[in-house]
Amino acid sequence: MIRVSPLIDRLVEALQMLPGVGPKWATRMALNVLQHNRGGGSALATALADAVAKVTRCAQCRMLCEAEVCAICANPKRDERLLCVVESPVDVIAIEQAGSYTGRYFVLHGRLSPIDGIGPAQLGLDDIAGLARERGIDEVILATNPTVEGEATAHYISEALAGAPARLTRIAHGVPLGGELEYIDGGTIVHALQGRRSV
Ligand SMILES: [Zn+2]
Repeated sequence: MIRVSPLIDRLVEALQMLPGVGPKWATRMALNVLQHNRGGGSALATALADAVAKVTRCAQCRMLCEAEVCAICANPKRDERLLCVVESPVDVIAIEQAGSYTGRYFVLHGRLSPIDGIGPAQLGLDDIAGLARERGIDEVILATNPTVEGEATAHYISEALAGAPARLTRIAHGVPLGGELEYIDGGTIVHALQGRRSV
């Protein structure tokens, strides 16, 4: 990387923490902001600082939000008896954008991965069974990604929920093997939810 000035170098370096951004793109973005859009740059800095300082996890579903309880959990129109378990907040956004799901969520913030030291405790997996009993949930939809780790996570939850009154379903149709919900279009997600099967 060509060194320009300590402040620009620092900005270019910082931008590279964004997923998919290498040194070339980071340099372009940094110079573009400084050249053409300083106001936007300030707004971005403030928005980022505020979000990082104030956004935390919903006390109920663990979705990212700045209130104690997120807008979905606080919405009385959402069906409390349906709980959809997803790996990441971005999956909640993808399902919400598809627009057909009316229940609640539980966000794991990861998937089982013993190599990376991610076990059931980090993901709150054992809390799901407690939630299912406490809230009288009728159906738990396992919407973890159809990857090896996603399947292992779904399997663990199904074991933890064995004996609980809630029906367990797994999204199936339309989601390609090894695919991630984040990259799938809304129509496919609707089909995947409609085609869920008991596990
Ligand atoms: Zn919530």
